[in-house]
Amino acid sequence: MIEEYDDLLIRCPMLGGEVPFRYCRTLNEELPCRKIIICWEFRIEIGKFLTEHYSFDQIQKALAPPSKTRLETILELVEKAKKIKEERE
Ligand code: SF4
Repeated sequence: MIEEYDDLLIRCPMLGGEVPFRYCRTLNEELPCRKIIICWEFRIEIGKFLTEHYSFDQIQKALAPPSKTRLETILELVEKAKKIKEERE
């Protein structure tokens, strides 16, 4: 069952405190955290856990690097605004 490891605790490098596995497996819009393999590989059979409970697409989506950072999005918008302004002048 998917809740099997939910109560195990680990120190989260992102938060700096302890979190339960439940948090790690649901952090990413109900999908696992991108770092779940790195963080949990020595504690549980994380590869097996992922393939048993998630589809290939879900795993791929969960583990993929973030598409664009907020900063990149803002910079893109600034560039677009600049171009529009230049075209008008
Ligand atoms: S898997 Fe993600 S949320 Fe869980 S401990 Fe690692 S970095 Fe933190």
